[in-house]
Amino acid sequence: MTDYRIFNETDALNYARQEVEFFAADADLVSNEFGDGNLNLVFKVVDQKSGRSLILKQALPYARCVGESWPLSTDRARIEAEVLMLHEKICPQHTVHIVKFDRDLSLIVMEDLSDHLIWRSALIQRKELPLAGQHIGTYLAKTLFFTSDYYLDPQQKKAKVAQFINPELCLITEDLFFTDPYRQHERNNYNPLLESEVQKIQSDPHLQAKVALLKYKFLNQAQALLHGDVHSGSVFVNESSTKVIDAEFGFYGPIAFDVGSVIGNLLLNYAGQPGLSETHVAQVYRQYLLDQIRQIWFTFAAEFARLMAAETTDVAFQVAEYQQLALQQIFVDAIGYAGTELIRRTIGLAHVADLDNIESTEQRAECELGALKLGQALIKNASELDDIEAVIQCIEKLA
Ligand code: ADP
Ligand code: MG
Ligand code: MG
Ligand code: MG
Repeated sequence: MTDYRIFNETDALNYARQEVEFFAADADLVSNEFGDGNLNLVFKVVDQKSGRSLILKQALPYARCVGESWPLSTDRARIEAEVLMLHEKICPQHTVHIVKFDRDLSLIVMEDLSDHLIWRSALIQRKELPLAGQHIGTYLAKTLFFTSDYYLDPQQKKAKVAQFINPELCLITEDLFFTDPYRQHERNNYNPLLESEVQKIQSDPHLQAKVALLKYKFLNQAQALLHGDVHSGSVFVNESSTKVIDAEFGFYGPIAFDVGSVIGNLLLNYAGQPGLSETHVAQVYRQYLLDQIRQIWFTFAAEFARLMAAETTDVAFQVAEYQQLALQQIFVDAIGYAGTELIRRTIGLAHVADLDNIESTEQRAECELGALKLGQALIKNASELDDIEAVIQCIEKLA
């Protein structure tokens, strides 16, 4: 990595002009760094003549939000680029297009999705995008099926597991999702009005046991090439299109983790709705969110089942009853993972705007309490919830 250097806006502009075949020779380029994520630099380079633009994302050798005291391998840019390129091959309609990856600079050049909106912002603005749920369900089914042992031959699959070993970023998830929130930890960060509920969570061995089961699967179930960070800030949406970005947490893990992450993020928005503005509008939008959760699960389950029936290569997995059991297990674990997302975004280090934007501390506490109650119920009762309608009843009762 001798050629690595941290880019400024001029470096990004020069790189886009000289190293990428995209802009015309007489392009009038401007460059702007506008990343809002926790970890990386993101530059936008625009040709003011044609209006055409590119995004350049560079991994820093440390976490942007903390600084040099939290070193992080820039190999995560390779992981991100390789996951996105593979997911793009499998599901081009719902994956950002990667134009170029420069390994020396840990730099990804990709299409500019500024004609989309980050899904989390769309949810906070109460936009009713009709297709986002179906699209993300399709993305999950295709990317997870075609990278799993249901489709790949076992040698090929094991080579891919090795290609995507991602210990540093996995450790962040292992700590922040499954460990910190369930005990006292200096990284935790929560509304003081939640103290008694947090005490309850941190002294509940039954809850902790269920979370430990999910953590152990996260550590050990190399089922498919996950996106690994598919929260609503990693998805761009508009009326007709849905595109996933930001796959640096990608690794071979449990299929249910990606599915549960998406559902958990819609539930965080559901929990925050009453705090975001008038109650009756919140109720209407909550129905939209529940409908999107149905769409995500039904689309994922139907497409994954169809692919298992039509494309599974190994005869052992062609047994219809096995396929039903496997899908049911994904459902149960996904509901559990959705519960851990609700809890870690409320008690843990990294919060979400769906709740943090609520100005009044009291009102925010009420919404956050809903997220915590729902999260605990989903983690504890996942295996008794027979189907998505049972989950929806639980959501309507608790959050
Ligand atoms: P991080 O890994 O640091 O979270 P992200 O990949 O999530 O970085 O990007 C951070 C922000 O940069 C996004 O929220 C979005 O605003 C912007 N961004 C990233 N990729 C694109 C893209 N392809 N098109 C337009 N904006 C983008
Ligand atoms: Mg700037
Ligand atoms: Mg991000
Ligand atoms: Mg990221």
